[in-house]
Amino acid sequence: MPCGKPEKTFQPMPNTPDTVPTSLRVIPRDQHNISRKGISPSALRVLYKLREGGHEGYLVGGAVRDLLVDGEPKDFDIATSATPEQVKSLFRNCRLIGRRFRLAHVVFGREIIEVATFRANVDDGSGDRELHEGGRLLRDNVYGTIEDDAVRRDFTANALYYTVDDFSVRDYVGGFEDVANRVLKMIGDPEARYREDPVRMLRAVRLAAKLDFTIHDGTAAPIPALAQLLSEAAPARLFEECLKMFLSGHAVASFERLEAHGLLRALFPETAAALASNRSGALRRMLLEGLRGTDSRVAADEPVSPAFLFALLLWPAYCRSLMALQAQGMQAIEAQRRAADRVTVHQLDTIALPRRFSLPMQEIWMLQTRFGLRQRKRVFRMIAHPRFRAAFDFLQLRQHASAEHADDIAFWQEAQLDPDNAIATEPSHDDVDGEAGGDGELTGAPRKRRRRRRGAAVAE
Ligand code: ATP
Ligand code: MG
Repeated sequence: MPCGKPEKTFQPMPNTPDTVPTSLRVIPRDQHNISRKGISPSALRVLYKLREGGHEGYLVGGAVRDLLVDGEPKDFDIATSATPEQVKSLFRNCRLIGRRFRLAHVVFGREIIEVATFRANVDDGSGDRELHEGGRLLRDNVYGTIEDDAVRRDFTANALYYTVDDFSVRDYVGGFEDVANRVLKMIGDPEARYREDPVRMLRAVRLAAKLDFTIHDGTAAPIPALAQLLSEAAPARLFEECLKMFLSGHAVASFERLEAHGLLRALFPETAAALASNRSGALRRMLLEGLRGTDSRVAADEPVSPAFLFALLLWPAYCRSLMALQAQGMQAIEAQRRAADRVTVHQLDTIALPRRFSLPMQEIWMLQTRFGLRQRKRVFRMIAHPRFRAAFDFLQLRQHASAEHADDIAFWQEAQLDPDNAIATEPSHDDVDGEAGGDGELTGAPRKRRRRRRGAAVAE
């Protein structure tokens, strides 16, 4: 087979909404950097076993893409010509999942290798494929050829196939060159593909952020106008995408790209509105600082929590809602509770944030005003609170929005080391309820200082 040259120039797909021509380019082992050392031994075992069984089997998707850019793949997916039942008959440790489209999961201890039969999005007249009025894909469950499988994938970089037959990479849609140029390009007509599945817009942003790729002009252009289609996507899926965007070490890049492509307001409408109305940019600075911290923690292999992440992402919305309620004359504590519930409930329309994360998220918010309370009993109770550490980390972040918190931070830093000494050296404080400051940040400072600054904008 001639290396690097098209072997076949065409593959009409008459029944797909957009006809995507394919031409096979085979990149031999000496022209790419993928080594078996970078591939999970379990995935290799599956590839060899499929081969022994007389089937085609390829490593595909994110794993090939990540290996080509010297990254470490999170998971190793395999595409095969074998049917799910044939795959099952080859492996004792295999179970079939999914009703609409059956996938084989081959289990090796804690590692699962997903094996999918080549899949097509072909309208074969069987009625298996249905399109929503807006063009969104509702059902697709037809097996196909490797070319069908390639063109139904989202980006060209995700449609590369690595084989252990000769250790070559097979490219049907130009993905190899796009990876070399670090470009993310949609396969087929971008607008139609976003309408089929709006989550692809988030995947574009997420993968570009993760890989430091640019999004091809034609692939990026339709996104702002279609961003609102995300509201039709399954909230549980959007939650998963958010975790991948913000808890995988590229949160800052993801956030900036979401904003740049008009997706932030579709995903976090109230946060986007609050950031837009926060003229000083203090809330945005704090948010970015928090995301930077998250990225550093991931890089250092330290744990990161979805509760803290969402406390951060929704903090601007919370502050804005709180300010509005207090402006109506509502008591501080009541307003805080209401604002927390309101923001959470509204956000659930788009993103299914599970209660096991939304409750601690709200606790992190509610604890913020308790940093101003320094009577002995309260200090000990606060330090023992299961969410104290997260709330204190959050308070430290708030310093990026307002210098007001330096005093509280110094006190609670000392209180964690030597509470008796911290309390002894502290002038007595009244109980205080936090209140919303003029520039959208929440104040929780001791009353004597607050009195001086009342009405002043607290977020610099
Ligand atoms: P990562 O694993 O780094 O998050 P990935 O590209 O591997 O990125 P997966 O969700 O693991 O993402 O998907 C595996 C492959 O399945 C992708 O590389 C792509 O080929 C295909 N794919 C995933 N989601 C879609 C989609 N919404 N539309 C079309 N193809 C998709
Ligand atoms: Mg993957």
